[in-house]
Amino acid sequence: MDDHIYACFKRCVDRYVAEPEFRQLLLEAPAKAIKMLNYEDMLIAYKVKEAVCYIIHGQKPEGSLNAGLEGSDINTENEYLKEYIKRYKLLEGFVRNSVAESRYKDMSLCYFGEIVRNRCQMESADVRDHKLIYYFPIAFELTKGCSVQCDFCGFSADRLSGVFLYNEENAALWRDILIKTRELIGPVAGVCPCYFATEPFDNPDYESFIAVYDEVFGEKPQTTTAVCERDPERFRRFINNADPRNLRERASVRISIRTLEHFKKVMEIFSEDELADIELLSNHRESINRISSSGRSRRNPEIAEKRRLRYSISCIAGLYVNMFSKTVSFMEPEMPDDEYNLGYRIRETMEFTDADDFEECVKKLIGSYSLYDPPKDYELSWNKNIHIDCGDDKYISFVGEGMRYKLSKGVVMLDMIRFINEGYSFSRIASKLGLFGSLYGSAYQRLRELYRKGYVRLR
Ligand code: SF4
Repeated sequence: MDDHIYACFKRCVDRYVAEPEFRQLLLEAPAKAIKMLNYEDMLIAYKVKEAVCYIIHGQKPEGSLNAGLEGSDINTENEYLKEYIKRYKLLEGFVRNSVAESRYKDMSLCYFGEIVRNRCQMESADVRDHKLIYYFPIAFELTKGCSVQCDFCGFSADRLSGVFLYNEENAALWRDILIKTRELIGPVAGVCPCYFATEPFDNPDYESFIAVYDEVFGEKPQTTTAVCERDPERFRRFINNADPRNLRERASVRISIRTLEHFKKVMEIFSEDELADIELLSNHRESINRISSSGRSRRNPEIAEKRRLRYSISCIAGLYVNMFSKTVSFMEPEMPDDEYNLGYRIRETMEFTDADDFEECVKKLIGSYSLYDPPKDYELSWNKNIHIDCGDDKYISFVGEGMRYKLSKGVVMLDMIRFINEGYSFSRIASKLGLFGSLYGSAYQRLRELYRKGYVRLR
């Protein structure tokens, strides 16, 4: 398909998601909607409507064999939908491959990411429905806090209070930290973000830092900005300097939309062609997208309950580095609730001064928290987001949101349930129950299964 035609079609999709008036018009009078955008000579109205509805609502287009974009061989005569699916599949493949085992140097982080994914999918049907949710082993921040203060911010980002500038000393430290990260974690870190509860363009030197990233990893991390309109020429330069293939196949640049007015401004400033390969994340009130129920969106009365998703906005299972305060933490996502309002848990934070120091901190944090087997002397607890059903004669069921895992009942298992409830470690349970030999081995084996599936947690 001609790139310009696709760009016009994509604008229809973006406007359908973001703008209630356009949405209604496209549904009720597609020809008028297309005409309003001056696309009447290029786009075929009824096909645009059909494709948009399928993409957003999963309605089967005429002639389609499979519903859902994850379907392997969607057979449709609708050229817009065909092109959209073709591009979506490239992205899907990229995301899956970017976290492949072979890209990890530290396998414990790789396996820990899998445990976190198992747990989050078991805790939330919303996570299971999003096939592109994977957990990455590290995130960097190049500022402290965020100037934007979105009213839906899933991390309730603090106000901007510091910027890590690209001076000689900082540039050298940054390069050393990235080289160390590559050595310790592996090439997978090349796709990990350089923002978390921050806005990338709050840092006037963001582009320089990203250039070093590219030198060290041979790829640039994904950038999501909520302020592309703050300095349109800077944003234009940024996307013009990006590898076009990365923009298209990796969604390497994304725009977060804060309000309907913001969306309209972005549409006004940037042409269809400029935004053809830029993913728009419409988070504002009038959008049909749903957002995580963590942080400010959790308590914001203006966000309708049905728009809230039961999952954390954080996709980091591992290290969280702030270059301004020179801290590195170990973090994992959590179901947003009163205990984990921000949808993540920080296990421990350490300070570093240089790359060698950073290495020591990283090794210690990974050694303590990135665990594939539950250590026998760690205190345990049940995942608070599950319930345990012992009602059956033969089996005990561990039940998450729509997922159930069954283990055969036995006296040891029933006792383990009680002792884990009380926060015992496995060693303490084993000594309490006098377990040894094969009984000890099989009890530990069961604990390991429950831990890897996310039903048992380390306190
Ligand atoms: S959503 Fe992003 S841009 Fe908005 S306040 Fe939070 S961190 Fe800042």
